[in-house]
Amino acid sequence: MPSLLIASHNTHKMAEMATILGEDFDVQSLARHNGAPEVEENGDTFTANAVKKAVETAAWLSSQALGQALPDFVLADDSGLAVDALGGSPGVHSARFAGDNGNSTDEANNAKLLRALAGVTGDDRGAQFQCVLALAALGQASEVRTFDGICRGRIAQAESGQAGFGYDPLFIPDGHDLSFAELGPLVKNATSHRARALAKLAEYLGRG
Ligand code: IMP
Repeated sequence: MPSLLIASHNTHKMAEMATILGEDFDVQSLARHNGAPEVEENGDTFTANAVKKAVETAAWLSSQALGQALPDFVLADDSGLAVDALGGSPGVHSARFAGDNGNSTDEANNAKLLRALAGVTGDDRGAQFQCVLALAALGQASEVRTFDGICRGRIAQAESGQAGFGYDPLFIPDGHDLSFAELGPLVKNATSHRARALAKLAEYLGRG
């Protein structure tokens, strides 16, 4: 069974990935690795940031783990929301949409998004969640593969629902009339950007 260390300090993402990957993988979290670096996400694309997180975490792990069993792979996720009417923003800046100074809580990001879309109606509220996964093979950190996933939908007029995280209370996926936060994990983990990217990764690792 392939072992994957998920290079994310975001507990929501971590939990979603572990649930979606399921029993076919030995999924490990950074929680058991003290001092793992908080990789700066300064790339212009999801791919650049995902690769950077995977490579830097794999390099750090290799330098630490003397005599300790290493996972087969480090897996990193970079993801975000691209809103059509905002020319693809917030995009790679999704986590820090409401400001770089620690003000970017989910609530503040969602409030800013609703303000930015004031007066925008109907189909013009189209958006997509995007996810790029980077898989770095340990010991061969230069060998990195990426897998992407997109989930189309629209931005609601107001937040609703309690499940999920981030922009989930505002995102209504195509084919539904409720937000991801209302639909809950069973629907989200079957249709999300992250689920689609993970399906490609599982296929690549022969577990599809
Ligand atoms: P990063 O990939 O850690 O830079 O941050 C991604 C940001 O995009 C998160 O903080 C959320 O704001 C947003 N995001 C990514 N995936 C999701 C999702 O599945 N649901 C809701 N928001 C998401």
